[in-house]
Amino acid sequence: MTKVLTIGEVLVEIVATKKGNGFREAVPLIGPFPSGAPAIFIDQVGKLGVSSAIISRVGDDDFGHVNLDRLRADGVDISGIEVDPQGTTGSAFVRYREDGSRAFVFNIRHSACGTISLTFENRKTIETCTHLHVMGTALYAPSVVETVMVALDSVKARGGTVSFDPNLRPEIMNSPGMREALSTVLTRTDLFLPSGEELFLFTTAKEERAAIDELLETGIEAIVVKRGAAGARYYDADQSLTHPGFAVEELDPTGAGDSFGAAFVSFWLNGSPPAEALTYAAAAGARAVTKIGPMEGTSNRAELDALIEGAGPIAITRQ
Ligand code: ATP
Ligand code: MG
Repeated sequence: MTKVLTIGEVLVEIVATKKGNGFREAVPLIGPFPSGAPAIFIDQVGKLGVSSAIISRVGDDDFGHVNLDRLRADGVDISGIEVDPQGTTGSAFVRYREDGSRAFVFNIRHSACGTISLTFENRKTIETCTHLHVMGTALYAPSVVETVMVALDSVKARGGTVSFDPNLRPEIMNSPGMREALSTVLTRTDLFLPSGEELFLFTTAKEERAAIDELLETGIEAIVVKRGAAGARYYDADQSLTHPGFAVEELDPTGAGDSFGAAFVSFWLNGSPPAEALTYAAAAGARAVTKIGPMEGTSNRAELDALIEGAGPIAITRQ
């Protein structure tokens, strides 16, 4: 049976309710919302009824329990989340600027999830899984990188598959060993899910089609390029498909990419044709932005069906 694993940060997110440039003045805040890119991803997989697990670490504090309660309720196997009585759960403060970009203050590396490591329990969790989704954001500490690499080897050795979302934030790109780790993951990837400039991270080509060809030649089976409100494009060796964005009101874009990736992976693993996986992924990404709070907009199957049916016929362009 398919079981999806991800590894990395479990955080709370606290959002400034007033737009502006960062946190150098007192601003009203709302939160804590359950968050962390891997956590949002795996919550969306769980909500679609696909077997799922996450390896992470939280403190024995309210911020940790906000996450444990949500993930458990949505069907995720949380036995790989260690609760560290001495630790503090990670956090991210986010404030939107007027131009739509985001300023973050992260507490990740020095929080409980900064010390995720390869425990006996984690090895057991890894062995129950057939697919690994790697979040680039999760490669922020050497011990997490080691855990991801062991999971990669284990899943691949058992004939499983790997998806990879670089999910880069300028704030974390300077972590030690990050670039090398990203490059190693890419060489083992079956399904690549970049957005924007991330497509060109490891290509010599600087134009989309040429970069896709370069990546497909390295043995990646399929690539899905996320394009925000414009939707997404799917590529494999035989075809490319362009899906427009669903028309929704964007209240909070954080988590769209993670929800999109989770829905795509869930349908792809269940053998859906790429066009169907792409439609459900675009619907999950669209629903995600309609809710304030990064994990608040994850969806179950009925919610995605309702959005897709409500939107009427969609023109998917094939090449
Ligand atoms: P993240 O900030 O979570 O890392 P990302 O850059 O990885 O995001 P996006 O391209 O922002 O990913 O969003 C993923 C997908 O969600 C898009 O490809 C699109 O299908 C859908 N989506 C995102 N924003 C919107 C929007 N405003 N309206 C409709 N669909 C959207
Ligand atoms: Mg992303």
